[in-house]
Amino acid sequence: MTQALTIAKFGGTSVATYEAMQKCARIVLANEATRIVVVSASAGVTNHLVSLAHTPMTQQQTLEVCQAVEDIENAILTQLTHPETVKAKLDDLLAEMRDLALHEEVVHRDDLKDQLLSMGERMSSLLFSAVVGEQHEHVINFDVRKVLRTDSEFGEATPQIEKIEELAGSLLRPEIEHSMVITQGFVGADEQGRTTTLGRGGSDFTAALLAEALRAQVCEIWTDVTGVYTTDPRIAPNAHPLPELSFEEAAEMATFGAKVLHPATMEPALRQDIKVFVGSSKEPEKGGTWIMRNCEHEPSYRAITRRKEQVMVTVKTPQMMYAQGFLQQVFGIIAKHRLSVDLVTTSEISVSFTLDNPANSVAQRLNKETIAELETICDVKVESGFDLVTVVGNHMQSAKGVSSKIFAAVADYNLRMICFGANPHNMSFLVNESDSTEIVQGLHKSLFE
Ligand code: ADP
Ligand code: ASP
Ligand code: MG
Repeated sequence: MTQALTIAKFGGTSVATYEAMQKCARIVLANEATRIVVVSASAGVTNHLVSLAHTPMTQQQTLEVCQAVEDIENAILTQLTHPETVKAKLDDLLAEMRDLALHEEVVHRDDLKDQLLSMGERMSSLLFSAVVGEQHEHVINFDVRKVLRTDSEFGEATPQIEKIEELAGSLLRPEIEHSMVITQGFVGADEQGRTTTLGRGGSDFTAALLAEALRAQVCEIWTDVTGVYTTDPRIAPNAHPLPELSFEEAAEMATFGAKVLHPATMEPALRQDIKVFVGSSKEPEKGGTWIMRNCEHEPSYRAITRRKEQVMVTVKTPQMMYAQGFLQQVFGIIAKHRLSVDLVTTSEISVSFTLDNPANSVAQRLNKETIAELETICDVKVESGFDLVTVVGNHMQSAKGVSSKIFAAVADYNLRMICFGANPHNMSFLVNESDSTEIVQGLHKSLFE
């Protein structure tokens, strides 16, 4: 018989300090069903590692950044009741980090970059297992690379679902019979055993993937907000937490920029019907958001999201009017580079579309390569400085008056592109980045306050 299984994931701020980790340990131990815990790197660490991996630095600068990471880790270590149990292991990991950071090739080799980026989770999971170990007898720090098999697309690797299921079944399942398993988010390994990563914010995805592989009933995402809100509370202070969300709504929100969930998190949950809970590790008593297949209500407007750093690409060919297959060629190039297009508009002789372009991301690099390749077949104009604002809801195309209320709220702004999603759950605008905060605030006021 399968026992009830919950997988709990704690984000960077939740495991930023010893005290924060103690709160997480209490949450974990309060629920008997929780047998696997996925942790992010302590807050700030991955950003330091990204700068080491991407920015050429002098040796002196490199060592300073390494020191900043070391300080974060050691601050936790020294507060442990028994620091000696993990000190040697932590020192080894810190030494590995320094060696990688000082490696001449690191800024040029994607495999080394990922190995360096994985250090944050490998250290936080070690320290967190010691914190849980202060209150619980059987705790292990499990190397997720044994089960989280991915392809070799370093920086944004794609998980191999069947392989993960097989490996988790044989290597992870036996561990949870007698131990509390603490493991790393964000990190994976390819077939050759080389370390890969899932993209920024990927620990949520790891938790959902492990929940899928082990057929858990619940996946908990513990973070620094008391659930998924009507919009990012940092943009609109009047945003409020949502008690429930459907898988589709949550997937749209994550895809269109709600940072609280990694964009791919809902895929495994949807496949295996796993309920996802989002709550605050600082205030677990406040409850949070339940994401599930069927919600009690299907409101027209559920939330507003914003995704920053978008580029608009316009491709134009004088032959387009006559050239059949031009669109196919354009989208063939985009597909080849594994980029996803969000908004598209076409005219007789041109096509415009938007691409995600966050700094230092795999997408940014691919955008550049994609554009160069497009230039071989047509004129290409690239404009940046845009944000994508999306209203997420239900029946958006079919319910009367839904869009007019949205349009009224954005009437005073220059909208570069407007698009209903290919499903009934979203409506998006490409706007100037300097307007997007006001637009989100205005929409929030009109739709939710
Ligand atoms: P973690 O480190 O726990 O993964 P993140 O920083 O990745 O946390 O995600 C939590 C943050 O997501 C919040 O602090 C909040 O600013 C942001 N956020 C964006 N959109 C939303 C939303 N709709 N609801 C809640 N938080 C959101
Ligand atoms: N530590 C990684 C990041 O900062 C993964 C995560 O936090 O989910 O992106
Ligand atoms: Mg996150």
